[in-house]
Amino acid sequence: MFNLQSLVRPNIWKLQAYSSARSEFKGVADIFLDANESPFDTGYNRYPDPLQLKVKAKIAALKQVDTEKIFLGNGSDEAIDLLIRIFCEPRRDEILICPPTYGMYQVSADIADVKVLKVNLTTQFQLDVPSILQAITPHTKLMFICSPNNPTGNSINLNHIQKIAQKFYGILVIDEAYIDFAQQVSFLSLFHQHPNIVVLQTFSKAWGLAGIRLGMAFAQKPIIHLLNKVKPPYNVNQLTQEKVLKTLENSEEQKRNVENILKERKRLVNHLQLFTFIEKTHPSDANFLLLKVKKPIALYQYLIQKKIIVRNRSNVVLCDGCLRITIGTSSENQQLLHCLQQYKI
Ligand SMILES: *Cc1c(COP(=O)(O)O)cnc(C)c1O
Repeated sequence: MFNLQSLVRPNIWKLQAYSSARSEFKGVADIFLDANESPFDTGYNRYPDPLQLKVKAKIAALKQVDTEKIFLGNGSDEAIDLLIRIFCEPRRDEILICPPTYGMYQVSADIADVKVLKVNLTTQFQLDVPSILQAITPHTKLMFICSPNNPTGNSINLNHIQKIAQKFYGILVIDEAYIDFAQQVSFLSLFHQHPNIVVLQTFSKAWGLAGIRLGMAFAQKPIIHLLNKVKPPYNVNQLTQEKVLKTLENSEEQKRNVENILKERKRLVNHLQLFTFIEKTHPSDANFLLLKVKKPIALYQYLIQKKIIVRNRSNVVLCDGCLRITIGTSSENQQLLHCLQQYKI
C-alpha cells in the first residue's frame, strides 16, 4: 500500500524548515525591520512572497485545483530536483525512467547520486507496462512519465498510466510540460484520486515564458508540504511573480499562440512528408516534431550552415536517424521549408 512516510528520506521527514522573516510575519504593517532588507524603495528591496499566494490563486482558478495542492518552482526542473532529494537516499534508492525521454531526470539523479532504472518505451513510443512493473523494486521511490513525451512528441496512453498508478506505490511523476499543445486530457483531472501522483507543468513552453523560470507541481497536500519544506525560501523571485500575474490576466493571447503553433505544426507535417530524405514524421501532440531522416548529421550540419538550429537526437535510444524540430513562427517555418527544398542529399 502507499505510505508517504515510508517513501520519504528520514532526514527530510523530520526536517525543520527554515523559517524566513516573511513567513513568520505575514500581516499588514507600516514598518518592516525584520528581514535586514534595505529600507530604500527600489521596487524590489523587499523579499518576495515565499509561497507566491497571489500567483497560486490565479493558477488555482485557471486549473480548478486548490491553492494548497500547488507548488511553484524555479522552472519545473526545480521540482524534479527537489522530488529526487526528498524521496531518494543517495546510493540506495532509485528512480525509474522510460527512455527516450527528457534528460533532466537522469542528470538530477546523477547529481544526487541516485540510481536510474531504465525501461525503454516500445517502438511505438508507448509504455512497456509489464517490463516497468517487473523492474520496480522496494527502492524505486519515483517514476517519471513524460506526456506528451520529449523528444518523441507523442502522448502516453492514459490507460497505461492508470495501470501503473494502480500498481506502483512509490511517487508517480507525470511531466506535462507540453500538455497545452495536446489533444489528450491532462492528468490533472485524475490526480485527485491518487495520493501518490505529482503532475508537472510549466510556463516555459505554451505560455512563452521560458526566460522567467516558473514551473508548477500539482499533488495532494502532504507532498506539496514536503516540497515547500525543502525548497529555498525565496525560490521564485519578485520579477517572475509579477510577470506571470500580468500574463495570466491575458490568457487569451496564450490560447491564440497555441492555436497558431498547432496550425503551423499541421502545415509543416504536410510539407515535410513530400521530402524523400525524410523517412518519417512522428505524430506529435507537442510544439515540436521528431523526424527520421536519411543522413541526420549531414542534414543537421546543412541547416546550421543555413543558420537554422535544430536538435540532433540521432544518438538517443530508439531515435536512430532522428532530428527534433521546434515549431517556429510561420515565417521561420517557411524559411526552414525553403532550405529543405534546396537540400541535395
Ligand atoms: C522543457 C521541459 C520542461 C521545462 O522545464 P522548465 O524548468 O519548467 O523550463 C520540463 N519537462 C520537459 C519534458 C520539458 O521538455
